[in-house]
Amino acid sequence: MGRWGWCGATALVLALWLSLGAEAWAGTVDARRLLDAYPEHLDRIDGNALVWKDGTRMTIDDGKTGKSLEQMLGHPDIDDMMAIPYRAGDAAKPPAPGSDPGRVRHTAFFTKMYGDCAKGAVSPHLTDITWLAGSAPQKLKVTRVNGVAAKLQAVSKELDALPAALRRHLTPAAGTYVCRPIAGTDRTSPHGLGIAIDIAVATSDYWRWSRTGPSGRPVWRNRIPMEIVEIFERHGFIWGGRWFHYDTMHFEYRPELLAPKT
Ligand SMILES: [Zn+2]
Repeated sequence: MGRWGWCGATALVLALWLSLGAEAWAGTVDARRLLDAYPEHLDRIDGNALVWKDGTRMTIDDGKTGKSLEQMLGHPDIDDMMAIPYRAGDAAKPPAPGSDPGRVRHTAFFTKMYGDCAKGAVSPHLTDITWLAGSAPQKLKVTRVNGVAAKLQAVSKELDALPAALRRHLTPAAGTYVCRPIAGTDRTSPHGLGIAIDIAVATSDYWRWSRTGPSGRPVWRNRIPMEIVEIFERHGFIWGGRWFHYDTMHFEYRPELLAPKT
């Protein structure tokens, strides 16, 4: 092998090392968002493992690349949950095909944190909040884990102060806790964790109810004002209106997807 050949081989090895190293680094950076979001539960990152305070280890990157959205939804690893960026604060607009930030959920991660509702392990953590206590009071069940109930109560207080004309989007809320799979799947809904709320159905849009376009894809539609979305996002809740497979009444507590606090 000539001198150039050695250079080429060295460059190839370096490029491979850089690409593998960069990928592991990206996964670790994403996983750090979980440490920041859930400090009561998570302890550290150790190589490719997310380590819980009780010593439980979960693989951050399963090494599979180029997963489709369907593959990520069905078999996510830890960093797949953050692979699609969530753009808090953006204006409402149709998301790009396949852009569903937050719909990828690692079941073992969330059931360890909030409990498995099918085994009765979520109910002990639930508490009542009063939705729109100042205008249209309604009791709703939400988990106390991670302070979600207190945060949703704070969201409600701010929503109550919005102009009365916006109230029709909020009341009656369609629901919070219910132990059921996501429609059309066998995956547990975030409603089964006690971290999600559906606001009023009357002015909401959902991809499964919608017309499809000429390509067979859902046609995005939204009637929820962004003043409402902004309040939820500021308290750690993501909005289903930012999903290509949209669900505009849906909000869930997912602080790892929102911009880190500065
Ligand atoms: Zn929902």
